[in-house]
Amino acid sequence: MNALPNTSTDPRYDAVVRRDAAFDGQFWFSVATTGVYCRPSCGARTPKPQNVGFHLSCDDAEDAGFRACKRCHPRGESPKAKMAAVIAEVCRFIETAEVEPRLEELAERAGLSAYHFHRQFKAATGVTPKAYAAAHRARKVREGLSGGETVTNALYDAGFGSNGRFYETSNAILGMTPKQFKAGGKDADIRFAIGQSRLGAVLVAESGKGIVAISLGDDPDALVRELQDRFPQARLTGDDPKFDARVAQVIGLVEAPGTGLDLPLDIRGTAFQQRVWQALRAIPAGKTLSYAQLAEAIGSPAAVRAVAGACAANTLAIAVPCHRIVRTDGSLSGYRWGVERKRDLLQRERVA
Ligand SMILES: [Zn+2]
Repeated sequence: MNALPNTSTDPRYDAVVRRDAAFDGQFWFSVATTGVYCRPSCGARTPKPQNVGFHLSCDDAEDAGFRACKRCHPRGESPKAKMAAVIAEVCRFIETAEVEPRLEELAERAGLSAYHFHRQFKAATGVTPKAYAAAHRARKVREGLSGGETVTNALYDAGFGSNGRFYETSNAILGMTPKQFKAGGKDADIRFAIGQSRLGAVLVAESGKGIVAISLGDDPDALVRELQDRFPQARLTGDDPKFDARVAQVIGLVEAPGTGLDLPLDIRGTAFQQRVWQALRAIPAGKTLSYAQLAEAIGSPAAVRAVAGACAANTLAIAVPCHRIVRTDGSLSGYRWGVERKRDLLQRERVA
């Protein structure tokens, strides 16, 4: 009940000052002068440190004689959790809607103004409602095509009213025409080459639009098989001497990561993945970020898990430097191309 003399330096007091919702549910604080207790994110005026006490549960606070704040309702679900549930419900609605719902309709479902809803949706998911709907439709088309549906049926099932509208955007969604995608990259020309670097074999593959894959491994044949599995029907060309220069560029990047990469990258992914990958490319060599910091960097601090997923989906090793993401405590998290390679890359970047 009595605040300890060092409250002002207690990290929990800092959380109260910042109204940090991340601490909601972890502790509660009471204010001796008003007799109420609150969750850390409460919007009421910040109390002086000497009047603040901390509690591990609502019961604890009430046993000490405090009553629940009427503003932040410390016993109820936190506002953040409530909002997340509302946004999740809206996502399900978008996914099952026959026709793309209008923003106003979605906002009304959420019980918010259109402006506020748009902001909340983006904070929770990392993308706008429109981009979410587009990404969902694109996924349905991909699944339909891979499942053996005809192109026309897959488009209608995914809610594209007319073929014409889809074909206008199909290159952006699939990276190729729907027919080509259905046929496993049929008629797409992909050149690739393999080189040896300090980190083992490096495979670089390029479509007419840019680099589609950079992968690392011990076994060059395994890297080629992986590429074939991704584009089983594409024309893969592996012996183009002009293309070898590309590999040399990438290997140069492995050896001296600070030099930057001036390559056209064919970044295929959902709108959200693309935003994460662009943010990764903005991290300079020698610097690392946590997933939470990266989520903050793209303006979606709540989407940490989705950000981690997008990092894991990166297919362009080093060029999109997902190896510069480490755990909050600085230790290494996983790496698609091997955690030892990640350690090596980071070490080299630190000394460069
Ligand atoms: Zn309160």
